[in-house]
Amino acid sequence: MSPTQRLAAWPLALSGAAFACVAVQAQTPVAPKDAEPATRAAQDSVAKTLPFADRADFEDANYGFVATLPDAHIAGSGARPVWSMKPYAFVTGDAPATVNPSLWRQAQLNAIHGLFKVTDRLYQVRGFDISNMTIVEGDSSLIVIDPLLSTETARAALDLYYQHRPRKPVGAVIYSHGHADHFGGVKGVIDEADVAAGKVQVLAPHGFMETAVAENILAGNAMSRRAQYQFGSLVPVGPRGQVDTGLGKALALGSITLIAPTSTIDKNLERRTIDGIEIVFQLVPGSEAPAEMLMYFPQLRVLDMAEDVTHNMHNLYTIRGAEVRDGALWSRYISEAIENFGANTDVVIAQHHWPVRGQARVVALLKKHRDMYKFINDQSLRLLNQGYTAAEIAETLRMPTSLEKEWSARGYYGTLSHNAKAVYQKYLGWYDANPANLNPLPPVDSAKKAVAYMGGADAVIARAREDFQRGEYRWVASVMNQLVHADPENRAARELGADALEQLGYQAEAGTWRNAYLYGAQELRNGVMKIPVGNTLNADTLKAVNTEMFFDYLGVRLNAQKAEGKRLIVNWSFTEPRLQVVLNLENSALTYVTGKQSDKADATITLTRAALDAVTLRKTTFPEAVQAGSIRIEGDAGRLVELLGMLDTFNPMFEVVEPKR
Ligand SMILES: [Zn+2]
Repeated sequence: MSPTQRLAAWPLALSGAAFACVAVQAQTPVAPKDAEPATRAAQDSVAKTLPFADRADFEDANYGFVATLPDAHIAGSGARPVWSMKPYAFVTGDAPATVNPSLWRQAQLNAIHGLFKVTDRLYQVRGFDISNMTIVEGDSSLIVIDPLLSTETARAALDLYYQHRPRKPVGAVIYSHGHADHFGGVKGVIDEADVAAGKVQVLAPHGFMETAVAENILAGNAMSRRAQYQFGSLVPVGPRGQVDTGLGKALALGSITLIAPTSTIDKNLERRTIDGIEIVFQLVPGSEAPAEMLMYFPQLRVLDMAEDVTHNMHNLYTIRGAEVRDGALWSRYISEAIENFGANTDVVIAQHHWPVRGQARVVALLKKHRDMYKFINDQSLRLLNQGYTAAEIAETLRMPTSLEKEWSARGYYGTLSHNAKAVYQKYLGWYDANPANLNPLPPVDSAKKAVAYMGGADAVIARAREDFQRGEYRWVASVMNQLVHADPENRAARELGADALEQLGYQAEAGTWRNAYLYGAQELRNGVMKIPVGNTLNADTLKAVNTEMFFDYLGVRLNAQKAEGKRLIVNWSFTEPRLQVVLNLENSALTYVTGKQSDKADATITLTRAALDAVTLRKTTFPEAVQAGSIRIEGDAGRLVELLGMLDTFNPMFEVVEPKR
């Protein structure tokens, strides 16, 4: 990613709900350092272990190349491009010692960009955003599958296509699933008016709108902050910085939009013919996204695995924080895809990474991924049943050789380590059943005691420096984390901790881990960047948030101390669309019931959903809307003001690698 702020709020961006529109240059008063000898040795060992001579992925990724834009440079409205491969020009030749050679290889593959002919009537634009746009040529119109993350990149991708292919209008857009990198650019390829007029159809899997935004609202602020670690959005691009996300190069800047589907696929293996193109949809809810679907094109003998089979191990757990996904279910869907389509598929594509062609190669790829997720699921369960804890399982589990040497199963995005822990979390939760861990002291208190027991900070640092020389970075990072929690002003501890995280980042094969480590090092050295709070929602994606969720979110914002002893009832009467809600504050908890009004209410608010949205989008404030008459209050308005005063506003840049201030 660029050294500028990409998306401060990827999870909300993923959900489409939000991103902070800020442009802050990463400040790096303390520059990143070089690779240590232990890191060089680790990189050498990777270079010797993995089958780098196998260049099939590069052939596949370049196959069918038609054309591209120089550096895939896509300008935005501001000075910064919305997208550009130019900052990544250094990702050529052999890996520097500061990048894991396996990740370096993936970063090279993810840097390949342009329009590609997959087969007759089916094209892809890749490397114009983190995700792919697939374009299928109907008899008289185009079907666009997944219009990227932002309108600017989507428009550029379609323009590139039009420069080399007949200019048929887009007649249909299909969203494979509800993550924003698969719908956000929709208004770059179609007009909402044409959809309303029935000229363009928009298809999505069952449950798309309900889950698209909902996945990330209630814990959104925390997810956004954590996403900065996962994507390295504030880590400068470079051989000592961000090189890739594993799943794709980076997230495009630009505007995220959403047009609601005109129709959803509700039946598994439903068949539809769109402008002469036959499509069989396999529903795969609860795999990589709560609502997702695969697509098979019988006439073209192409299978689109959406995001369920790509060229990396995906996440059962994402380190930005999200609900854990079910590896066994994921595996079963791939198994079903093999049964349904494997024998009659010549090319498998996905909405990230590059296609694989040849029926036998397609099935081989699908089988590896089917087995990878089943292996992680079952072996983690086996070991937890033997009594091993999450950390022990993650440390001991090794992929079978047949999967370990498979490039597409390498942990560039998810890792075996954190996915194994995810299985533990799914079945057993955070507690390892050892009562010593049932209620230990929290980080700051336990760190202070531990440092004192260890003979004080100076003694700890002296010993940790020796371990650092020996390459024991995991331990040094962990023990310096304790020192920083005991005393965040301890400069030597912060720097040694940063040095250790940095070497871990250089060694990491996962783009996500590298980003997390390097961002952590950056924050230990330079502190948390000051970022203005952006508008966290946009009008398009807010439409996908149902009104009930607004009240759920109010409950999340309620500051229990401020609400202590308070009792309040507010009637909400939405006139358009009609909805009645009684909001109840009691015992420092906000609850609500719908479909009625209370006759004991302190106040009654009458409004439209549009008026509420305007406040949420900060186009106006609650008091201004009352003054303007778009929100009407009867009863005791003072009590409402009191309630608003009890709501927290979240700090988007809370401390992570140091104690909360
Ligand atoms: Zn995606």
